Order: sequence, then C-alpha cells, then structure tokens
Amino acid sequence: MALVSMNEFLPKAKANKFAVGQFNMNNLEFAQAIVEAAIELKSPFIYGVSEGALKYMGIEFTVAIAEAAAKKSGLPIALHLDHGSSFEVAMKCIRAGFSSVMFDGSHYSFEENIRLTKEVVKAARAMGVSVEGELGTIGGVEDDISVDEEHANLAKPEEAIRFYEETGVDCLAIAVGTAHGMYAGEPNIHFDIIEAVSKAIPVPVVLHGGSGVPDEMIRKSIAAGVGKINVNTENQVACTENIRAALAKDAKIYDPRKYLTPARNAMIEVVKSKIQLFGSSNQA
Ligand SMILES: [Zn+2]
Repeated sequence: MALVSMNEFLPKAKANKFAVGQFNMNNLEFAQAIVEAAIELKSPFIYGVSEGALKYMGIEFTVAIAEAAAKKSGLPIALHLDHGSSFEVAMKCIRAGFSSVMFDGSHYSFEENIRLTKEVVKAARAMGVSVEGELGTIGGVEDDISVDEEHANLAKPEEAIRFYEETGVDCLAIAVGTAHGMYAGEPNIHFDIIEAVSKAIPVPVVLHGGSGVPDEMIRKSIAAGVGKINVNTENQVACTENIRAALAKDAKIYDPRKYLTPARNAMIEVVKSKIQLFGSSNQA
C-alpha cells in the first residue's frame, strides 16, 4: 500500500470516537518499532517527522523508510511533517513524497496564521495531501506559571472555529494545556475547550504533548473530540533508557545491534499500549 493522507482515517476516528496516534520517527529503529506495533494491532497511524528529524535522517531516507513500512504492512500510514514552519518546507516535503503536513503558524498573529495556513491547504489539497493547523501556543508547562499566563496561551474556541472555517484544515491542533516533553506533575487539560471546538467543526482536534498524560485524561480527551494524538518523548525515553541499561550491564559491547534491539523492543511496547489506549486497534 502507498502512503495515504490523514483523510483515509481521521473522519472515521471522529465518527467512531477513537484517536489515531502520531508517532514521531527519529531513526530507522523508531520507524520499525512503530510499524511492528501497528501491524500487530491492525491500526492506522501517522509517522510524524519534525524539521529537526528531517535534517538528521535526510528527506530521501525518511520517505523511503515510510514507504517501505507502508508496503510491508499494508496499513494506512500517513507520513506527516510535524510543526512545519513555512510554506516552502511544506512544499519540499510534499514534493519528496509526504502525504500530510502540519503548518504551525501559531507564532504569527491570528489573521496571518489564517492567511498562511490557507495557502498551504490550497497547494496541499491539489496534491491529495492533508493539512494540520495550529492555534494557541503549545509550550512547556512550568510549575510556577500563573493561571493568567497559562490561559493567555490557550486557544479560544470561537477563534478555533473561525480558523477552521476560513482555512479548511483536515485537523486542528489547539492549545488546551498539554505541553511537549515530559511533565513534572499532571497536565491541566481543558476538556471544555476541546468539546466546544470539536462540536462545532467536522474535523478532529489534535492533542500535542501526549507523552506522560495519564490514561484517564487521554480517554476523556478522545470522548471530548480529540482524534489525533502526538507521542514522541515516551518513545525517546524508552529507547534511551534501554540503551543506557544495556551499556551499563556490559561495558564491552560494541555491536550497536546488541543495545538497539532492546531499545526497539521497548518502543514496540510503548506504541502498542498507546494504540490500545487510543482505541485505534482493528481500525486499519
Ligand atoms: Zn507538537
């Protein structure tokens, strides 16, 4: 099977109240672990690739690995640019074979974000590529952040609805209180914002910063209208912890396969547990 746009599975996720995982690809072992877990559970999924990961892996290898995974698995897999910063980088990815892109215009003014996102949607749609937009700032949650400051970064439902209506994105990331990276405490997720936006638009809300969010909060988010959840840090932690443990156990190891195999196996378990939690098993 060829790579598909997110529209192959997101409408079904929205209608049937499950979420599709975006698991970020950082190297070959990540890509293999993610697809192995998805094969086992017959789940659609999204390979997320940040601009940093793209630089690290190279765009040709990134696309080739994702295409190989789609061919081997027969699963609906989207290859998605994560937090694309410009029209140019989005087009570069589409030309190289990405089936989906995120344009993150959240650091622009609201009107400018709408204008730039619309341009990406117009170009991407013509090529059958899906687009994720972002509204509000998804940052790092600090323990000492004041409530006012926190709320200042959250998406306003009426703005999110207008953003959707004007841009026609295929899914919308809104700042609802989650953050990238691991949490010091528990995140404070504003389910009311998710629900207000999700009820008013036909496409799913995207939850960034899904690593370390308690399972119950994930279930509540999906019930409120989240249809795509991004996970990266938990796989990075599982990978690195296992490499560290393998090296600590045997100082004479020099064959990378000896420490990358347990790392990859640990990531398979992380991804399987997320797929089960998100409810996307048997939805391929
Ligand atoms: Zn993100």
